[in-house]
Amino acid sequence: MNTIKKAKRRQGSKGQAIIFIILVLSCLVFVVFWNYDLHRILHVKGIAQNAGDASAVMAARWQGISLNLMGDLNLMHALALVSDNQAAAETITNIQARLSYTGPMVAFMGSQQAAKQNRLFNQDDFTAYLKRHAQRVRFDYPHTTGSDGEPLFPEPYPNAWEEYASMLDALANDGIAAGPDNMRLYSDYSGGHILLNKAFYDAIAGRNWCWFYHNAPGLLELYQNFHPAWWPPLPPIENVPYINSEFFGLGMVKVTTSLDNLVTTETINTVTDRRTLQYQFTPEDLTNSATWYAYGGHLWSEWEAMSMQGDFPMPLAGPVKQEYDYAGADAAIRVRTRATRLTPGAGSRAITNTINWTAAAKPFGYLPGPQRPDAFDLVLPAFHQARLIPVDSLSGAGSGGYDLEWREHIEEHLPEYMEHGPLGHGCRFCRMLEIWENVDFRQTGVNWLEINSQQCVIVPPGPGGGGRGGRRRAH
Ligand SMILES: [Zn+2]
Repeated sequence: MNTIKKAKRRQGSKGQAIIFIILVLSCLVFVVFWNYDLHRILHVKGIAQNAGDASAVMAARWQGISLNLMGDLNLMHALALVSDNQAAAETITNIQARLSYTGPMVAFMGSQQAAKQNRLFNQDDFTAYLKRHAQRVRFDYPHTTGSDGEPLFPEPYPNAWEEYASMLDALANDGIAAGPDNMRLYSDYSGGHILLNKAFYDAIAGRNWCWFYHNAPGLLELYQNFHPAWWPPLPPIENVPYINSEFFGLGMVKVTTSLDNLVTTETINTVTDRRTLQYQFTPEDLTNSATWYAYGGHLWSEWEAMSMQGDFPMPLAGPVKQEYDYAGADAAIRVRTRATRLTPGAGSRAITNTINWTAAAKPFGYLPGPQRPDAFDLVLPAFHQARLIPVDSLSGAGSGGYDLEWREHIEEHLPEYMEHGPLGHGCRFCRMLEIWENVDFRQTGVNWLEINSQQCVIVPPGPGGGGRGGRRRAH
């Protein structure tokens, strides 16, 4: 009798042991899966970072090379004028006009190669967007007219839009793995508007009433529901002479003046010497008036974003060297990788994580002195290398770069919204505009701010500052 009981007890404890082992094993399996997933995500993130960084540096390197070429051509133009060779001077100016597109296009191509060599794949939506844009350049740019009936996008040289569109098409045909994230499309709106500010949508999504307190005081109270549109009209399309590429543009202007207004005899001679051109300009040589490529436009100024002073100082170990302290042509890249997890999600479905990475780089160099490359207005060969820079210190990035959901919103949805009010399509930003339309939603914000607005303090970012914990994307 006793032995039977003992055997049963043994069997019972054996059963418990098996359940225990199964439990431990399944826990272990999950730990292994989880560990694998973690490493995989880190690995894929590493790929994104390497490839994004390499891609941005490559683009910036070619921007530097293009600027040096542009500078060499300025020197040759000056030499052509000295020997009174008008035909050569004209040819050089024509080449320069083309170089301001072909140079950045090579940068675009180089950035894709660098991304792909670092194991990134083409993104179908990146490619499709560029294809669509090439179509716009080819078919819309030549025919769009402004309110005065004049062409809105006059060509910088004959057949420019056709040639530029073909180069974009060629790039798209190879596939886009790295999106140029600081493009400045000619069709972008000029100036600011609250609907063109991504932070407005973020504030709605996060019920961040303090954002309204700081950036749009009164908006919550004043806004009246749609029909007719309460908003001021969207700003017009910027109308500037189009001589720079939309992607990786060099930020140049064409100036018609005598050369001594743009550079000193001493500097041009030192640079000419270094390029072994074997000619010394006299002050009289520089009095000929002609059209020169100079630094200007939106770019080329003090590098304010890297300043260690002001309201939001950049947390740097020391100030930027004087000769490098300029904001100018630079390149930003957006890449994306995906990691599929082994650990199943809800309903045993596989989970895929998308990893986005943005990187920025800039050509650096100096003129003899050393002085900033743009110490004089004239573009001269002065660039020596390309380096990564913090994404936050980029020159004024356009409206959302290669964030395609945002681009679709501002390019396609907003004009429609301004006419018809909130639209029912699934776009994340349009959904925020629907929430915004809700009177109760806005009233909640008004009520909260009435009581809590003293909580809306801006804590300076930076080490030890707490608060916002420094710049969100500075890396
Ligand atoms: Zn939208």
